[in-house]
Amino acid sequence: MSYLELASISHYYFSEKNATHALGNISFSIEKGSFTSLLGPSGCGKTTLLSIIAQLIKPTEGTVKLNEIPLDQQQSSIGYMLQQDYLFPWKTILANVCIGPKIQRTLNDQDYQRAKNLLSKIGLSDVAHQYPDQLSGGMRQRVALARTLMTDPALFLLDEPFSALDYQTKLILEDFVLDLLKEYQKTSILVTHDIGEAIAMSDDIYIMNRKPGTIHLHVEVPDPVRALSPFEARKHPQYQELFDFIWKEMTNLESEDPINSSTL
Ligand code: ADP
Ligand code: MG
Repeated sequence: MSYLELASISHYYFSEKNATHALGNISFSIEKGSFTSLLGPSGCGKTTLLSIIAQLIKPTEGTVKLNEIPLDQQQSSIGYMLQQDYLFPWKTILANVCIGPKIQRTLNDQDYQRAKNLLSKIGLSDVAHQYPDQLSGGMRQRVALARTLMTDPALFLLDEPFSALDYQTKLILEDFVLDLLKEYQKTSILVTHDIGEAIAMSDDIYIMNRKPGTIHLHVEVPDPVRALSPFEARKHPQYQELFDFIWKEMTNLESEDPINSSTL
């Protein structure tokens, strides 16, 4: 049985003058505890699709089910990690990690303990009483990760969370985030335009096409690559094979796209 199921999702953005067909007939399902990437060029509808799964926007057509029940008919918490960390600059790191229960007005001693444990897990106990602008970009993203884990979400969505970081920090964080999400047995969906990142982190990859956004291809990452940490996975020969295959697929898609073929 699949955990998350998307059935025939289509989405249009309407303005006074025109309609943008952002997503067209997207269906796929995800197993509990797995890590899935949505890989595609800018503008193919990745963020729109995550926003639909997070119930931030309602799709024009189609349904999203979690455990066979439509998401809009249940109270499931969904965690979101973005490129920007959106930490509150006037709150300490510990207070930022506790923000979920604080907003829900349920903050108690147990939450404080959980937050402290999470800070220790992410190696930032020492800065619990400092403020976000005293931390590096990578440290702030770790805090954002802990803050999202605090709410114990049924789904963990990541929208290009490493794209603003330098390459070395990004590689370190990929290992770190995946390790923690596996330890907490989270079902996760990563949106990225980075082929290497998708292969190194995922169990499954859905390659998306543009105008409107559709699923072009489902790729399963081979077991030997999945078994390794993202950093180590990059050195495996099957990683390189898959990278070349996906590169070709995406280049072919771009050359079929009249906008790209005329501007490249
Ligand atoms: P991606 O995350 O893959 O870059 P998006 O989901 O942001 O893609 O966008 C998909 C398409 O929908 C693009 O053509 C974009 O211009 C359009 N779009 C996104 N958000 C809006 C919006 N709020 N209003 C109108 N059009 C939008
Ligand atoms: Mg986006």
